[in-house]
Amino acid sequence: MRKFLLIVMTALFAAFMQSPATAAGPEGPGVIVIDPGHGGEDTGAVGPNGTEEKNVVLSLALKVAEILNERLSSTVLLTRTVDVFIPLEERTAFANRNGADLFVSIHANAALNREASGFETFFLSFDATDDDARRVAAFENRVVKTTEARTDGDDVQLILLDLANTEAHHESSRLAENVHLSMLKNSGRENRGVKQAPFTVLVGATMPAILVEAGFISNPGEEKLLTSKKEQTRIAEAIVDGIMGFTGAGAKTPGKDVTSIGKRTSKN
Ligand SMILES: [Zn+2]
Repeated sequence: MRKFLLIVMTALFAAFMQSPATAAGPEGPGVIVIDPGHGGEDTGAVGPNGTEEKNVVLSLALKVAEILNERLSSTVLLTRTVDVFIPLEERTAFANRNGADLFVSIHANAALNREASGFETFFLSFDATDDDARRVAAFENRVVKTTEARTDGDDVQLILLDLANTEAHHESSRLAENVHLSMLKNSGRENRGVKQAPFTVLVGATMPAILVEAGFISNPGEEKLLTSKKEQTRIAEAIVDGIMGFTGAGAKTPGKDVTSIGKRTSKN
């Protein structure tokens, strides 16, 4: 069984690497890390019809990586390409270790009010923009017991204070604005704004880093949209447009490899 999975994974990676080369154009950032939220036993939010956040954000992230590879010469890395649990801290560490120029974490939102809808884009701050932003961060920071959390308050606070004046913080705000406006464009979706909140997954990132909430999985209408391949492609294209707007990159260039730290460890 293990050998079979290895063959499947090898074929999967080979498929990515064989993305067709297209006409050369302006280069994008050197390394872009795309982070599909949750995974494994951490399902993330679950919609009224049973859709799990971890699955829709993985599809979305894979699509974003595919489109980035088609359009830019950047190296695109994913924190996971399969349904596996990865601690929040490890995701940012992966980006730092690989010298990433951009970090984009992709999530789906949830609220008790099933009417809640629309897009929200976040960048890191110790002070949340409002109660709603604080609630979203608290939800996304809540992970399953197997996380080797090292988020004791003092540690996080020191990093955040240090971060407050850095260039990366300003650039994160600009990246968030670009991606958010691009996602909203022609979407007909509610604009919940660009906000700041203390997300563990963004702490310690040494590059512009944002967290995208691509709709409310708790809203039956948006849950359905999130599972639609057509809508996933639309959102993925918008995220890529936003990244390209931020970097000033324009046309298509040859694709590069897609790799990840998330490896298949079981049959789930
Ligand atoms: Zn999430």
